[in-house]
Amino acid sequence: MKQSVDAVVVGGGTAGLNAALQLARTGRSVALLERRAEGTSGARWVNGVLDWQFERAGLEPSAGAERLADNSTAWMVSPSGRYRFAIRRSPVVEADMRELVQRLTNLAIDAGVDIRWGTDQPVLDFRFGRPGSVDAQCGHSAVHFDADLFVDASGRAGVLRRQSGELAELCPPASPASTCVAQQLVLEVADRDGALEFCDANGVQPGEAVVQIGLEGGYSTLNIRVEPDLHAVSVLTGSIPSLGYASGPAMVRAARETHRWMGPTIFGGSGHIPLRRVYDRFTAPGLALVGDAACQVMPAHGSGIGFGMIAAKVLAEAVANADDPGSPDTLWSYQANFLREFGATLAGYDAIRRMSVTLGSKGAEELFSSGVFSEPLVRNGLDQKLGSLPPTKAGAAALALAKRPHLAKVVAPALAYMGAARGVYSTYPRRNDPRSFERWLKLGEPWRISQS
Ligand SMILES: Cc1cc2nc3c(=O)[nH]c(=O)nc-3n(C[C@H](O)[C@H](O)[C@H](O)COP(=O)(O)OP(=O)(O)OC[C@H]3O[C@@H](n4cnc5c(N)ncnc54)[C@H](O)[C@@H]3O)c2cc1C
Repeated sequence: MKQSVDAVVVGGGTAGLNAALQLARTGRSVALLERRAEGTSGARWVNGVLDWQFERAGLEPSAGAERLADNSTAWMVSPSGRYRFAIRRSPVVEADMRELVQRLTNLAIDAGVDIRWGTDQPVLDFRFGRPGSVDAQCGHSAVHFDADLFVDASGRAGVLRRQSGELAELCPPASPASTCVAQQLVLEVADRDGALEFCDANGVQPGEAVVQIGLEGGYSTLNIRVEPDLHAVSVLTGSIPSLGYASGPAMVRAARETHRWMGPTIFGGSGHIPLRRVYDRFTAPGLALVGDAACQVMPAHGSGIGFGMIAAKVLAEAVANADDPGSPDTLWSYQANFLREFGATLAGYDAIRRMSVTLGSKGAEELFSSGVFSEPLVRNGLDQKLGSLPPTKAGAAALALAKRPHLAKVVAPALAYMGAARGVYSTYPRRNDPRSFERWLKLGEPWRISQS
């Protein structure tokens, strides 16, 4: 049956559901097409999220059953286990994504969003370079919507992005070398004494996370947190397997082999995270990308929940009072507002991501032993803000690097890039003007070490 709405969102993960919700809250009629069944879309595991990002995304922070842990301590541990420091009262909230997706679903339905679960193969129909309608399949039935705005929130698949000639060129998929393969499982504790021994051996209390960095290449993590009541343990892993390392799921298997006190899986999941910096452009006439589809992911630790949901809100703000929500100028405002506010953070931490890949496990160990990798530096990263080091810490880090030129050769350019990113993104053109955009690209050129 043919239907007409203001906006169609494809993908019912956290970014897509918030896009549909925030657009509906501004009075738009919205349909959301999700290929999975209700209760199975988006992330289905425990993710680290930040209260400030929910607030910026127009949402209440996680609470109740969704909020599993907060204000906890994380111990950052070097690859060999010899060096460590604690992040106390971490800003990161452990949240159950199944609960968050359900909350967003309920809010979207209450706001009037027409959600079509089990709807796949969306095909856009372009007229003069702009999509005017989408056809999709829901089981054996055909679905058709005319709309002014189409939002691709299908994750790294980018199912609409790939159909737009303009965006397919501007937004190449993240390369395997820029893709993290991660797994997060909540497991039963089969042997409480074994879990306690693990905590003792690592000098932590139950409820505190042991976050070992650099076991499988410089960009990798093995994060183990025994619940305070010793009934469950959370295991989070991630790495870049295309660089020749074990993948996140393989790291979990190895951890379970080593720690036989870990029992059967309660819930969790795995997936690919695009780590490359956010695209320079993620809109075309009638089409906007949000979430992993736009690479709106914090590259330093592959966190995409917060920025994806924020992008959804920024999009709704930009189109709120527009006569045509899909006009190129309106969508340019979404892109410009998002990049002026968050582009420097995402691009700056992309330099840190690339730095950690180059340093490898050996370099990661040296970052710990030299004191360059320190509590304030990591806290800023966990809070997903650029921030700056207190002068004493900055001085100590500079001295440590001066004594280690081989380390400085890799770390100093990354830090310079972070500094430059602020300036570059603060000048992102506000208006949809190709010449200004070309000038902006040139300004950032020296800093664009990797596009993919
Ligand atoms: C193991 C793991 C741990 C992670 N840890 C963290 C963390 O601690 N903190 C954090 O912030 N982030 C974390 N991330 C990243 C985070 O989960 C993602 O960035 C986030 O889920 C992206 O949200 P999204 O809505 O853009 O995409 P997705 O969650 O991928 O949702 C996309 C949706 O689109 C649907 N879809 C796809 N194709 C189609 C189609 N053809 N038609 C209709 N629908 C379609 C999919 O079914 C899916 O429901 C982690 C990722 C993994 C894999």
